[in-house]
Amino acid sequence: MTISRADCLALDADDPLRHFRDEFVLPDGTVYLVGNSLGALSRTAAAATARVVAEEWGGQLVGGWNASGWFDLPLTTGDRLAPLIGAGPGQVVVGDTTSIAIVKAVSAALRLRPERRVIVSDTANFPTDRYVVQGLAGSLGGYEIRDIDGPDALDAALSDDVACVLLSEVDYRTGARLDTAEVTARVRGAGALMIWDLCHSAGAYQVDVAEADFAVGCTYKYLNGGPGAPAFLYANPRHHADAESILTGWHGHAAPFAFEPAYRPAEGVRRFSVGTPHVLSFAPLNASLDIWERVDMAQIRAKSVALTSLFIDLVEESCAPYGLELVSPRDPERRGSQVSFRHPDGYPVMRALIDRGVHGDFRAPDLLRFGFAPLYIGFADVHDAATALAEVLGKELWRDERYRRRLAVT
Ligand SMILES: *Cc1c(COP(=O)(O)O)cnc(C)c1O
Repeated sequence: MTISRADCLALDADDPLRHFRDEFVLPDGTVYLVGNSLGALSRTAAAATARVVAEEWGGQLVGGWNASGWFDLPLTTGDRLAPLIGAGPGQVVVGDTTSIAIVKAVSAALRLRPERRVIVSDTANFPTDRYVVQGLAGSLGGYEIRDIDGPDALDAALSDDVACVLLSEVDYRTGARLDTAEVTARVRGAGALMIWDLCHSAGAYQVDVAEADFAVGCTYKYLNGGPGAPAFLYANPRHHADAESILTGWHGHAAPFAFEPAYRPAEGVRRFSVGTPHVLSFAPLNASLDIWERVDMAQIRAKSVALTSLFIDLVEESCAPYGLELVSPRDPERRGSQVSFRHPDGYPVMRALIDRGVHGDFRAPDLLRFGFAPLYIGFADVHDAATALAEVLGKELWRDERYRRRLAVT
């Protein structure tokens, strides 16, 4: 390879984010390129969680709701997360899952545009985004889902009966990144509301929700909140007085402990809370946010571009004869922090690669997907991953029968 492993080690030595790697637990011999699916464990997460269990739950019992601020965790954690997506205090609420956050955002958008009956979604949207929209349209009745094939088809879809548009900033399969400001302006210009799914953006670079109406995302990918960590929902302040989701639970009530018979929405973004927050799941997330508060997002983006560009270069150089096709945009401006290649035998190729310590994931039908979390992935990792991939393909190691059997989670 034109860039040697020693060159990569030199790049690592010069990396201003290098020290963050020591704040994460990564098993020896593992190149972890799946931080876009489940972020790595921060070194402080276990102790932080144990403290919540032993001191708060064990020591305070039900008093923890007041004494340890459990009741306000969705908002206090939202305020800590807000800067990562370009939002301000009181604009983000944390809780539930991304799927449920989509239910809330889309249902609120539909209520804000009652005379409009079309929901625009993209065929490339993540399945749960599509399923939620289908479920809502089906159960509310009288709605049409208008599927587009990519942002080029957006203008033609934006008739004056479109209530809202739901898109992902970064495509979970290809890593293609949209220009959120430009798309949001077009959607709002047509009188519709814009809802962004930021699952593959938050923590990958500095997001800017700007004029968006709503945004949702998960915290267990680049933000390292841990398996099942709560999701976030951003609501633009212009909607805080009027927006109401279909999920009107007591934690979104103006006075939950008045136990009133009828629902009244809380002031501000709290109205998007539903039920009791998953207190224990907030502990590792807040431990991770302690790290994120010290991160320079411009450095994150610069390193992400360098890592993904180097990976593309090295793979194309060393795997040229083996039928890999780059499906991620070559222009780093149009790319998130992942790189995907197509290969007809993608599944066994990925299994063989994982057996050699290089963890990526496989997305049906034929994509090898590699995520680069700049906080803890280095340039030598990129070199090791490209070298292992070239070996798996060059020696056809993936033809081994045991790599063909599908596991439940790919
Ligand atoms: C990961 C991901 C989700 C996950 O939704 P959950 O409800 O947390 O399972 C949703 N949307 C996108 C685009 C994702 O990448």
